[in-house]
Amino acid sequence: MSTLELNENKKLTDQDQEYLWHAMSRHVEGNSPMIAKSGEGSWFTDIDGNRYLDGVSGLWCLNLGHGRKEIAEAAAEQMMQLSYFPLTLSHAPAIKLSAKISELLGDSYKTFFSNSGSEANETAFKIARQYHNQNGNPGKYKFISRYRAYHGSTLGALSATAQANRRVKYDPGMPGFLHVPPPYSYRCPFGEEVKNCDKVAADMIDQVIQWEGAETVAAVIMEPFISGGGVIIPSPEYLQRVAEICKKHDVLLIMDEVVSGFGRTGKMFGFMHSEGVQPDIVTMAKGLTSGYLPLGATAVHSRIYEKFKERGTDNHFRHVSTYGGHPASCAVALKNIEIIERENIVSRVEVLGESILGSLQDLRSHKNVGEVRSVGFLFGIEMVEDKETKQPASDNLMAKVIALCKEKGLIIGRNGDTVPGCNNVLIIAPPLSSTEDDLRFVVQTVKSAFKEI
Ligand code: PMP
Repeated sequence: MSTLELNENKKLTDQDQEYLWHAMSRHVEGNSPMIAKSGEGSWFTDIDGNRYLDGVSGLWCLNLGHGRKEIAEAAAEQMMQLSYFPLTLSHAPAIKLSAKISELLGDSYKTFFSNSGSEANETAFKIARQYHNQNGNPGKYKFISRYRAYHGSTLGALSATAQANRRVKYDPGMPGFLHVPPPYSYRCPFGEEVKNCDKVAADMIDQVIQWEGAETVAAVIMEPFISGGGVIIPSPEYLQRVAEICKKHDVLLIMDEVVSGFGRTGKMFGFMHSEGVQPDIVTMAKGLTSGYLPLGATAVHSRIYEKFKERGTDNHFRHVSTYGGHPASCAVALKNIEIIERENIVSRVEVLGESILGSLQDLRSHKNVGEVRSVGFLFGIEMVEDKETKQPASDNLMAKVIALCKEKGLIIGRNGDTVPGCNNVLIIAPPLSSTEDDLRFVVQTVKSAFKEI
């Protein structure tokens, strides 16, 4: 590396320390983060020339990997043709994308665009409350989500998030947000002896709605598979049961597909693993553009939208986002979806995901591995100190595996900072377009890290 480059890198590192406020990270003087310079496919290179495979797809969003020229060109062309236009009026990329989303969801949906997953969920909450209001049930305002879930960082989405450490300095959250236990069979919240944890967890939602009074509950929000909260994968029947319960009580079902949408789980959307489930509202972001530009979307079933369009009333949705549905973001999303379809990414993830899981299951014989779970390209390795007692692995042990993988050129993650003792799940979620060599590298690297601890 030339002296000029070394000086430039030193300046970047110093300015990073001085001026840039990083997301989620603890600020430790002299502890410089990795500064990325370029990316290609599933790999990125930092300013010191080290190359890493991004085993968590950035923040689970880089579904098609880096360097897709077609996507960059779609953005550039759109910016030259029409650089900005608000969706109080309309433009072709948003129209085409909303139609495509409805087609992919397999029913008639109307889509409201924003810029992120948090905003997509905030939008869903406002729509749910207004819907009930205009449907003659103004008292239905509460939302139910699950402990361990993450739904975003803005105050409403954070109130639906139920990971104590993320909230503790910002509480109290918004009134009307309730939490129920997750369908977490490995550590069933209803007792280790409970055999049908998923069913009991679903029935608990029914119970809570009744205890609260169905006339006060607006919606249940959930991911089809809890991702950041520890890769919790219920059976397909869980969601079917939840959907039935929601219907019975006229409670809307909001599916947070921010992580699981666009192929991550081996279906176009995660809820599609549960036959017969058709959510009232589906929220999306991340994989919608594979992270090339920001975009959030809230797709609302037309039976819900009906209540917003009655003529001669004041029933419209009083909500606007200046940049939501930006023409360039929508053009990028359309190109992203075109590639996902052209390259059969979804079925590829389904098939390869199974074979990676098969290979990772070898880790179950390791003394610090409690369970290996996955759906599609979303893998969780729950680490323990002791298999019998299931005592969660220490911070040190978790950090050691992550550091060993990094030394070997693989970035993997860990579930969000929930209450102590709950963040013991390693998370692996490589780009969906990773080559078979990339995927072999992921599996071999993780296995060799476990050998060394
Ligand atoms: N929902 C889920 C399930 C998420 O994982 C995230 C982000 N990690 C969000 C919502 C919020 O998305 P954003 O960061 O784009 O606001």
